[in-house]
Formats: sequence, C-alpha cells, structure tokens
Amino acid sequence: TKWVYDFSEGNKDQKDLLGGKGANLAEMTNLGLPVPPGFTITTDACRFYLEHGSTPPDLSDEVTEHLTALEKAMGKTLGDPSDPLLVSVRSGAAASMPGMMETVLNVGLNDESVQGLATQSGSDRFAWDSYRRLIQMFGKTVQGIDGELFDEALDEVKREQGTELDLDLDAEHLQDVVRRFKEIVKQHTDRDFPQDPREQMDLAINAVFDSWNSDRAILYRRRERIPGDAGTAVNVVAMVFGNLGMDSGTGVAFTRDPGSGEQGVYGDYLQNAQGEDVVAGIRNTVALTELEQIDKDAYDELLQTMSTLESHYRDLCDIEFTIERNKLWMLQTRVGKRTAGAAFRIATQLVDEGLIDMDEAVRRVTGDQLAQLMFPRFTEGGDAKKLTQGMNASPGAAVGKAVFSSEAAVEQAQNGEKVILVRRETNPDDLAGMIAAQGVLTSRGGKTSHAAVVARGMGKTCVCGAEELQVDTKAKKFTAPDGTEVTEGDVISIDGSTGKVWLGEVPVEPSSVVRYFEGEVDPEADDTEALVNSVHRILTHADSRRRLDVRTNADTPEDSARARRFGAHGIGLCRTEHMFLGDRRQLVEKLILAEGDDDRQAALDGLAPLQKQDFVEIFEAMDGLPVTVRLLDPPLHEFLPDLTDLSVRVAVAEAEGHPDEANLRLLAAVRRLHEQNPMLGLRGVRLGLVVPGLFAMQVRAIVEAACERKKAGGDPRPEIMIPLVGAVQELEAIREETEQVIASVCEEHGAEIRPLIGTMIEVPRAALTAAEIAHSAEFFSFGTNDLTQMTWGFSRDDVEAAFFHAYLDKGIFGISPFESLDLDGVGRLVRVAAREGREARPELKLGICGEHGGDPESVHFFHEVGLDYVSCSPFRVPVARLEAGRAAL
Ligand code: ADP
Ligand code: MG
Ligand code: MG
Repeated sequence: TKWVYDFSEGNKDQKDLLGGKGANLAEMTNLGLPVPPGFTITTDACRFYLEHGSTPPDLSDEVTEHLTALEKAMGKTLGDPSDPLLVSVRSGAAASMPGMMETVLNVGLNDESVQGLATQSGSDRFAWDSYRRLIQMFGKTVQGIDGELFDEALDEVKREQGTELDLDLDAEHLQDVVRRFKEIVKQHTDRDFPQDPREQMDLAINAVFDSWNSDRAILYRRRERIPGDAGTAVNVVAMVFGNLGMDSGTGVAFTRDPGSGEQGVYGDYLQNAQGEDVVAGIRNTVALTELEQIDKDAYDELLQTMSTLESHYRDLCDIEFTIERNKLWMLQTRVGKRTAGAAFRIATQLVDEGLIDMDEAVRRVTGDQLAQLMFPRFTEGGDAKKLTQGMNASPGAAVGKAVFSSEAAVEQAQNGEKVILVRRETNPDDLAGMIAAQGVLTSRGGKTSHAAVVARGMGKTCVCGAEELQVDTKAKKFTAPDGTEVTEGDVISIDGSTGKVWLGEVPVEPSSVVRYFEGEVDPEADDTEALVNSVHRILTHADSRRRLDVRTNADTPEDSARARRFGAHGIGLCRTEHMFLGDRRQLVEKLILAEGDDDRQAALDGLAPLQKQDFVEIFEAMDGLPVTVRLLDPPLHEFLPDLTDLSVRVAVAEAEGHPDEANLRLLAAVRRLHEQNPMLGLRGVRLGLVVPGLFAMQVRAIVEAACERKKAGGDPRPEIMIPLVGAVQELEAIREETEQVIASVCEEHGAEIRPLIGTMIEVPRAALTAAEIAHSAEFFSFGTNDLTQMTWGFSRDDVEAAFFHAYLDKGIFGISPFESLDLDGVGRLVRVAAREGREARPELKLGICGEHGGDPESVHFFHEVGLDYVSCSPFRVPVARLEAGRAAL
C-alpha cells in the first residue's frame, strides 16, 4: 500500500483516500494556485492505526521520503537550528467535520531553532510567538494537557503587563510565556517538551489519528450520520506565517454569502495573526472587504483566486488563506456549507451563470433543506422586547429559555424544555449543548466563527456576534445595552435570518415559501423574493423529472385542499377513525353496545349520513383525483371511555346509592373489549369481519357521497382500502360484501361508480403472500408504520422512549426505523411484495402511506423499487416532490 501522497499526486475526487482537505489542497496545487508544499498521509493509514494501535510498519520510511522532498523544495530542513523548516500537521476526513479534530502548527520549533527562526525572519517577537503557540497546541492536543492551564498562564503574563491583547506582548514577554508553558508540560507529562523535530511530527500525526475518536468527533458524526469507521487523513504542510507583522495576517472567506446566497465578498481577516485566531474570536476581525485598503495586491489576487475556484468547483467554496509579508497563500478550500435558503438561491444562480444545468440544480438541494424553509418565521410586534441585533448566522425562528452552558442546555432539553444556548463564543466542547438547544446566541465572532459554521451545518438557528450583549456565563446572565438583565430560565427569541434578539416570545407567521405553496405569492413577479423564485424553478423541474406520483395523507376537507395546493395528486390515505370522534362518540357507543340487529342497524343508520357528508367534502376538495379511503382501523375500545375512569364513576354512583344503568352496561362492554395488546388485537379487517354492517355502512357512505358529487357535476375518484389484511381470505370476504354494497347503491342512484378495491400491506404475512393477495386487490398501499412495528416487533408507542436511545448509542441503527425506512429488513418485504404482487397482477397499483412517504431517503428507495406513488402529510408534499425528482436523476 502507498500510504503517503504528495500534494501534486492527488486530486479533488480522492476524498475517501486523502480526506477533503488533502484532496482539495492537491486540486489547488495542480490548478497552479499558491499552496505551500506538503503531503498527505491517507485515511488507510489512519484505519490501520485505529485497528492495530500502531502505525503501519513502512509508514515512517515513506514519511521520511516525502519529508525529504518537501525539505528540498523549501531549501530548508525540518527544525534546522539556523534556518528551520516548520510544518503544520492537520487533520482532514472525507466528510467535513469543522473544528472537530486536531491540528498542530509550527512543528519543528525547539529551544535552538527558535533562535534560527528569529534571525532568519528578523523578528524575535514572531519567533517566540510561534514557539509558544506550538507548545500550547502540542501540549493540549498531543499530550492531553488541559488547555485552560495554558490560557491562564498567558492571561497571567498579560495581566502582569497590564494588557488584554496578545499583540501588546513583546519578544521578552513571549519568552516568559514559553518558559511557563514548558513548566506546565513538564509538570503534567514528567518530561521536557520534546525537542526532536521529527519526534514532534510523529507524535502529532498519531494525535491527529486519535482525534478521530474524540468525544466531540463521535457526537458530531452521529448527529450528521457520518460513518464511524472512515478515519481521517493527515496533512503535513510547510508553514507560512500570518504572524510576521502588520503586513501579514490570516483570514477565511466565502465566494458567496453562505447565509443568503448573495454574491459578493464575504469573510473575515485578522492582521498579524495565525491559524485559529480568526475563528476563535480572540481579537475582533475586520470584514474581508477592508483587506483592499490594507493590501491591495494580495486582495486582488485573492478575489481572482476565489473566482477561479468557483468556476472550477462550480459551487460556493469556502477558503482559508494567510498573507505572509504581502504574499498570498491558500491553505484550504472546500465546497462550503450553506443555509437551506442559500442552497436554493446558489443553485439557480449557477444555472443562470451557465455553470450547471437544472438537473444539477435539483441535485444540489435536498428535501431536508426545503423542509427548513417551510418553518414559520417571526412576525414583528407582540409583547416581546427587542434587546439587540447581532449577525444573522443561520436562519430560523427560535424561542426558548436562556441557558449559559452546554451542560445546562443538555440537561434542560432532556426535561423537555426548549432552550437557547447563550455564550460569549462557542468552542467544539459546546457541541452537545448546541444540538440540544433550539438555537444559539453568541456575543462574539463573525459569520465564520465556530458557532456560525457549526449551526449552519446542522440547520440550527444562530445569531452570532451580538456585541452589545454582556454575557457573563459564570453568573448565568447577560445584559442588554438598555440595562435589561436576562438570567437563566428567561424566555428569549432569536431570529437567525435578521440577527434580532428579543426578551419574551415573539409570535410566528408562515414563511414566504409556504405562502408561495399556498398560492399567495406569484413566484415569477418582479418583486418576489429571490428565494421563492429559486424554490419554484427547482421544484417545477423536479416535477418534470419525477416518475413517482405524490399523494397526501388527509382526512379533512381543509387538509385535502391544502395538500392539493402544495402539489399532492390525490389522497393516498384518508383515515376514517377521526370521523368517529367528537359528538359522534355516542353513536359509536351505541353501535358497540347494540343488543340485536335492529339496535345495531339504528346506530349505523345514525352514523351513515355523517360519514357521507365527510366524504362529499373531501371528494370535492380532491375533484378529479384519486381518494383512497381506509375503512375503520383502530380497536373499538379507543372510542369508549377509559376503563379505570369508568370503574371509578360506577363505583361512586353505587356508593351514593343511585347506580347508573347505562354506565354499568358501558363498563361491561369496556371490560369485554379490553385487550392486552390492542395493536395486535381486534382491529382493521378483523373488525369488518366480526362487527356486522360496519364496513358496509362505510362503503355505502363512500359510494353515496360519490354519487352525490357526480350528480353535482363533479368527478369523484374513490378507492376503498382494507387495512391489516394478512391472508387473502380476509380480503375476499370483505371484497364480496363491498362489491354488493357498491352495486346496490349504484342501482339506487342510477349512477356508475366503480372504486378500486385494494389493501394495505402492513402485516408481514401479507408481504410474504403478496402474490395471492394481489388476486383479490387492485392496489397495494404499504403501511410502513405498522409494517415496521410488526417486522421488528417494536411497539411504536412505547419503544422510542424506552430503548431507542441505547440502540442509537450502540449503533444498532443509525436512525429510528420509524423515521427512515429500514431498507434491509422492512424494505426487503416491500421489495418482495411489490415484485410478486405485480407478477400476479401486472396492472396492480403500488403506493406507500406510512410516515416514510415524506422521508427523503425512503422516497429514493420507493422510487427504486418501482412504486407508483408515495403519500405523506400535507406539509411534506413539496419535500416528497423534490426528492422524487432527485431520485429520478
Ligand atoms: P480545521 O480543519 O479545524 O480548519 P486546519 O487544519 O485547517 O484545521 O488548521 C487550523 C488553522 O491553522 C487554520 O486556520 C489554517 O488555515 C491554519 N494552518 C494550517 N496549516 C497551516 C500552515 N501550513 N501555515 C499557516 N497556517 C496554517
Ligand atoms: Mg481549516
Ligand atoms: Mg396500519
């Protein structure tokens, strides 16, 4: 195996092997951009190391070979006492994990080479600053010493000098800092700070490997669904120095605004600084545009380079650069993370610039991003009091109780509280709190700060750099410019789209994208928000590409109409149980308590007209489109009072000496219908088979409603769906009864209604006997909620709270199978049933109506197995349309 690649040997498509950073450094090198030379140790080497606990035996020789070549290119030797080559040792995995792993800068400095560096650079201050940074980073990441110890030592020296700024420390002070740092190292490792440059480098390489399994890296991967066994590459890069004086500096930039997608120059720059200084919020950065005044030549070259990168990657790039004595160096680039809104805008901008086509634009956005754009946003006004405005780092409208530490955020979120994490600035240790919180508010740092970058990546609302706020995390409070104090537990609202912060809860209104779906906004008008226009163009194109139809799950006329506006092409699941609640409970009770056919028929006759009216309105809302009505599914006792409550009421009445006859009868019925495992009990088709007349009443209501609509000039398209079938015989019995009812209603009305009759596939046995069932069914609709529940033997209502946490922690699955379809197990049943059903009946219609119908990954699977449609809740309809289009590309 080849373990090490020079930058000139790789390219951007080798992310799996070289990591994202390494692959892109190679790409930039080969584009002729100014990248300091270096080499990449592969993720293969990392995986070997993680597996065996030691590096591959031949790695060291290969590293030596590449180091020698690097030294030759630079004309310097690593750690040479008179003129040292220094390197950075940088992590970089295939999937971007910003700030989650480790990097060590200035490797190669020691007590002697620091002198050489000083002589060569002509700056003592610079040399000692670099050395103290090495010891600090090396001590923390390689030797595992608590970073606070170094921070405190540095603060102490600053205090002694009466300053708060690093820049006020001169060479002598920094030499003092180095002495103190070395003492800390000695105290905590029982040895002197390693002086051998190669040993420093080798230890740093192993530390980067180890950082793959740091707590925060593991947490981040779980949250972002990144596989845990990929490992990181290590990049060894010749150092360039932004801390050589005011003609030097370091910065980060985006080729477009990652918040809105707007074109322009976005970034932060910090003079006389190195590495993380920009993002750590140590000193206040300046906006990148100001670099034009500071160093025009470097600025122009940077802009030129950014434009080269954009057209080369055909996408928004983010960039790290350093200027060393007026010379620009590129240290990193990658296709940058962006907000959901920016993703849509950038995709259509790139189409308009001729860089990508519409297919590619559809590939560039996701259903999850679209879902984010449908969240409500704040309205102005209400009782909340505006406190300040920070930077709009990651959009969204978040309301919650202020908390001031990651731990508090996690703890309170576990208790069901909504919280906003408030910090001066965040660091990677705050990750757990950021995940737990509704949103993040910081008082320092720009749009490239840790908080902003991580929040954007997660789609979490964030306002950063609200500099007017005095945040005191120790006292758990912050103070607004008008003196208002906000303490832990106070409710605040933050708007990640505008940067505004309020005390109190701000009311919300529908987003502009939802208003567009509602038909309230013309997407092509001149004054329409650019974002709405982008969404419209992309979704329209996705529609033109998709093969899957999208229907909705709806059981009211209002939901049906809304889903239709959102693009649903019919109803895939109209539940009828909701139509049995409310005032109608009494009629259902009567039905259950009926003693004899007449009683029962009277109850059914009471229900029938009400049922019919429900369907009339739904057919009207979905005129011309299919409406799949599912006959009653849940166990009957769900419509009866609770056993305990009723027992108490009966007992009380008896004790008071006037027993209630009706309640006594009801109690007997509740007892009779009580089941240990109701979800596996008397429900679905089983009800139809044992409660005479129930399904017939429902079918009659459906067909009469259709006749009525037809008479009124409408075009009703009912489909009748039998739930919970496990054997074809169940279906055949109901089918016969259903056909008779249809025929007689049609005759009574002199109308011709011919609904499809089909079944849900939600019992594993149905999936396994799909061929037989297809003989009696004109369509299948996969009920993936029950199918998941019965395939795994998980009670949906109980297990998520009981043990899914443990399952997720142990990696038994990466996401709940109720959220995203379990492709290997449940998916296999779907695949088998679809294939065998179609073999038996080629024109069999296939759909899915579980929660998974709106889940992006599941939609791709349903496309692949050849279903005709997915059905999902109204608000997921646009998401399913987009993902169905993406699946077809
Ligand atoms: P991360 O993945 O957390 O961004 P990096 O490996 O990119 O970590 O490095 C951390 C910081 O150090 C960045 O600001 C980067 O630009 C800077 N840096 C890395 N290598 C060098 C180098 N060879 N010369 C100067 N600065 C460097
Ligand atoms: Mg970086
Ligand atoms: Mg079901």
